[in-house]
Amino acid sequence: MKELVVIALGGNAIKQAGEEGTAQQQFANIDIASKEIVKLSQAGYKLVVTHGNGPQAGNLLIQQEEGKKLVPALPLNVVGGMTQGQIGYMFQNRLQNNFSLAGKSVPVVSLVTQVLVDKDDPDFQDPSKPVGPFYTEAEATSLKNDKGYVVKEAKPGVEKGWRRVVPSPEPIDIVEKEAIKSLIGSGAVTIACGGGGIPVKKDGKQIIGIEGVIDKDKTGNVLAQSVGADVLMILTDVEHALINYNKPNQEAVGAVSVEQMQKLYDEGHFLGGSMGPKVEAAMRFVRSTGKKSIITSLDKAGDALAGKTGTIISA
Ligand code: ADP
Ligand code: MG
Repeated sequence: MKELVVIALGGNAIKQAGEEGTAQQQFANIDIASKEIVKLSQAGYKLVVTHGNGPQAGNLLIQQEEGKKLVPALPLNVVGGMTQGQIGYMFQNRLQNNFSLAGKSVPVVSLVTQVLVDKDDPDFQDPSKPVGPFYTEAEATSLKNDKGYVVKEAKPGVEKGWRRVVPSPEPIDIVEKEAIKSLIGSGAVTIACGGGGIPVKKDGKQIIGIEGVIDKDKTGNVLAQSVGADVLMILTDVEHALINYNKPNQEAVGAVSVEQMQKLYDEGHFLGGSMGPKVEAAMRFVRSTGKKSIITSLDKAGDALAGKTGTIISA
C-alpha cells in the first residue's frame, strides 16, 4: 500500500521574502515546489498538499483597501477563499505541467476548504494575528471607529506602524473532509485547506464565515488525521528544527520521540508564530495517530521520508 503523506508547504514555497509577489515570481516558486512534489509522487507516495497564504492574503487586503473607492472591499473570509483559488490554480497548472514533463498523467485538483472553529475560542477575546498593511496611528484609529477593526501597534522597535489583528482560533474539523477523501480515493494529488482553511463557526445548523486566520500547520494536522495520513510532513525553509536557535551552540533535532520533543518544546527552543506551531502540530499528529511527523525543507522532502534527514518525530 502506498503511504499517504500530507504536505504542509510554507509561504516561501510560493513567495520568497523580499519578492513583490508578481504572478511570474509566484509561478516560478510554485514550479520549483511542484517539481519536488512530482518526485515524491514518482517515488510512490500518495500526496495531499496544504499551503500558507500570508503574503497573498496581505497583498489582496491591500487591493481591497486601495480599490474600495471603485468597487466594494471584500472581507477577510472571502479574501481567504480567493487566495485558495489563486494558489490552488497555480499549483494545478505547474503540477500538471511537471507531471506531463515526467511522462505521467496524474489528476491534480484543489478544493476551496472551510474549517470549523469553536465560537468560544479564547482568541476571539484577544485577537493575536496581524494581517494586511501597516497603518499610521490616525488611519488605524479611523478603521477601529468606522469598521470595528481591532488594531494594535506593530512590534515596537522592530516594525513601524499599526496593524489590524484578527483572531487565530484552533481548527476543529474540516467541512469538506468527505469530498477531500473522495478526491484522494480517485487518485488525484489533492490540494486543500490552503491558508489554514477559511474559518467558520456554527450557528445552529448553519456555518458562518469568520474574519480570522487559522494556523496552517495546525490545520495540516487536522487534515492529516481526517484523511488517515501515514505521515504529516511540514516543509519550510530549514532542514531541521533547531535547539538553541540562532545561538553559537545551535543544534539540529534529528529523529526523536514525541516525549523528547515535548521536553525541548517546554524548554522554549521553538519560537511562537514560526517553528512553535509546527512542532505543536507535529506532536499532536504523532500523539493522536501513533504515526510519524517530519519537519524539514522542501528540497529534503524525499530524503526525510526515507529517514535520512529532517526532524522526525515518532511515538
Ligand atoms: P513557513 O512559511 O514555512 O510557515 P515560518 O517562517 O513560519 O515558515 O517558520 C520557519 C522559520 O522558523 C525558520 O525560517 C526560522 O527562522 C524560524 N525558527 C524559529 N525557531 C526555530 C527553531 N528553533 N529552529 C528552526 N527554525 C526556527
Ligand atoms: Mg509559518
